[in-house]
Amino acid sequence: MTGIYIHVPFCKRKCPYCDFYSVCRPELYEDYTQAVCRNIEAFKGRDIKCDTIYFGGGTPSVLSAEQVDRIIDTAGKCFDLCQPEITLEANPSSVDREKMSGWRKAGVTRLSFGVQSANDRELGFLGRLHDFSQAKSAVETAAQVGFRHISCDIMLGVKGQTLESLWDSIESITALPVDHISAYMLKIEKGTAFDCDEMRNAVADDDMLCDMYLQTVGQLASKGFLQYEISNFAKEGGKSRHNLKYWHGEEYIGIGPSAHSFFDNERYYCKSDVEEFISDKVQSMVVLEDDPDKAEEYVMLGLRLTEGIDIGKAEELGGKELGENIRKKAALFQKQGLCVVEKGILRLTPAGFLASNSIIGELLW
Ligand code: SF4
Repeated sequence: MTGIYIHVPFCKRKCPYCDFYSVCRPELYEDYTQAVCRNIEAFKGRDIKCDTIYFGGGTPSVLSAEQVDRIIDTAGKCFDLCQPEITLEANPSSVDREKMSGWRKAGVTRLSFGVQSANDRELGFLGRLHDFSQAKSAVETAAQVGFRHISCDIMLGVKGQTLESLWDSIESITALPVDHISAYMLKIEKGTAFDCDEMRNAVADDDMLCDMYLQTVGQLASKGFLQYEISNFAKEGGKSRHNLKYWHGEEYIGIGPSAHSFFDNERYYCKSDVEEFISDKVQSMVVLEDDPDKAEEYVMLGLRLTEGIDIGKAEELGGKELGENIRKKAALFQKQGLCVVEKGILRLTPAGFLASNSIIGELLW
């Protein structure tokens, strides 16, 4: 079944570390909403079955309950929606009870909050508009208005963060009514306000990041949040069905500036230009790859997941030579504690996830 990704390219203010496409243009919210609906309508009559919708950003929570409702309603008329998981990314600084209750009534089933830390000094460094008490109250209110699936993002490697302060953040955040955690390492991205030597020297170095990551995996497991992907952890029933589609190589349709799609065996994206998105009748798409290498994709995406890959399937897709190379290299990585091979299934360990790029490179060539 297909997933729908809707990129909401607006933020109240740009965070200094972020390279996602977003602009501060509240006067465009309504035109943007109409453009999203037009693009959804372009799929009408194609009999597309869909079981997830994901509002990502940017900051989808700047949209009103009525605007979100209109988009979901349009999707319901144009796609065959089958008990959909509908996720909306939210910032603690742009939510209130009425809005969250409206999203719930509109059909949103899951909220994902960009909390990042429970330490106000760290939140200040990240340029976030909220403090932890606001984040806590936003998550508690979401649960009170009926959300049973709530996720929080946590950032690792922030300037001044220690193993202890990270531990305390995770203790505070997992004490909230949440069933999912995404833990990301802070990276200095090109072209962001943090892209300078002063900042590179101020944030955690690679060794510290590795320690933070391994501590986080263990601490979250002790709280019942089991790792299912490099950066994602869930309680029973809390995994993101939409994000799993990316890693399982399933189809998704992306709508909105900078949104990527994998549909009809093609990978393509919409340009990062909200004005063009609004003025075009239907978004124009740029094709990335019209015939992606299936074996490569299977290995690269599958090894992000703790469920791992079936070596036999990789061999079926990529040939005998690839299968033999994977078996040979995996045996070496297993000795180093970086992966486990059991009954033909290859899984990376948490230490393996930290070196996943080079491991995948070795397995594939
Ligand atoms: S981190 Fe989130 S809120 Fe901050 S600029 Fe990026 S998309 Fe917007």
